[in-house]
Amino acid sequence: MLSVTLDIEDHRGAARGPKRHAAMTEQLLELLAEAGVRASLFIVADLIATDRALIRRIAAEGHEIGLHSFDHVPLAAHDPDSFRRRTADARAALADAAGAPVPGYRAPSFSLTRATPWVPEALAEIGFHYSSSVLPAGSPLHGYPGAPREPFRWPCGLLELPAPVTRVGPLTLPYLGGIYFRYLPAALIRRRLRGADSGPAAGLWSYLHPYDIDPAEPFCRPHGAPLWMSLLLHARRSGARARFARLLHGGMGSTIGPPLGARVAAGHFTAARPFPG
Ligand SMILES: [Zn+2]
Repeated sequence: MLSVTLDIEDHRGAARGPKRHAAMTEQLLELLAEAGVRASLFIVADLIATDRALIRRIAAEGHEIGLHSFDHVPLAAHDPDSFRRRTADARAALADAAGAPVPGYRAPSFSLTRATPWVPEALAEIGFHYSSSVLPAGSPLHGYPGAPREPFRWPCGLLELPAPVTRVGPLTLPYLGGIYFRYLPAALIRRRLRGADSGPAAGLWSYLHPYDIDPAEPFCRPHGAPLWMSLLLHARRSGARARFARLLHGGMGSTIGPPLGARVAAGHFTAARPFPG
């Protein structure tokens, strides 16, 4: 069983030209509605000031609200005390804006790594029910090689739902999301997804961003991104919308389940094993 997730952020930041994330998010909401799929939408809290009506709409359409950090800066750049305070404030503000609870947390760019061992405890203290912030493989950005590839519990008890990965040649890739979902052959994704879908306990989730389905966006370099990555992020977007629609309608080989938080509450991951970190 696969849960659908979206990471809602304004990756253009201060780049010139009109904002695009809200319109693209609305298009993603329409695709979800057409397929009758409820998803988890992890939202960066700095959008609360500008996109309150959109956040309200997301919750009103029955989707689960998650927090995708307060500023989309990698976790290692923060000190534990201010992280705890600002994340708790962001979660409360997001719940208020949405009129709905915020059970889950997703780190910016999977930046929960060995370098930030204090993060899970902070998230548990704040009251999150789960995190989906770990890429359990090596990565040019942020990865956690050696972390379990199935749902697991941190020593503090917090449940972690790591990004689903698969081997492609010498690489281990989060094949169900973002650029990987856009670039990898559809037949490969379908085959791997079918092989991994072992029912409700399978911690499978896909992820997409508003820009992933936006072929018309003028090129920009997101804050902090090197040129090669900006180019990768910008290319191969035109087929992504149709591919995502296929996934939502079950055409990529998996059963689509409820949002992650609903599955956590229903006890799908109670067998998750401890990981000492
Ligand atoms: Zn993000």
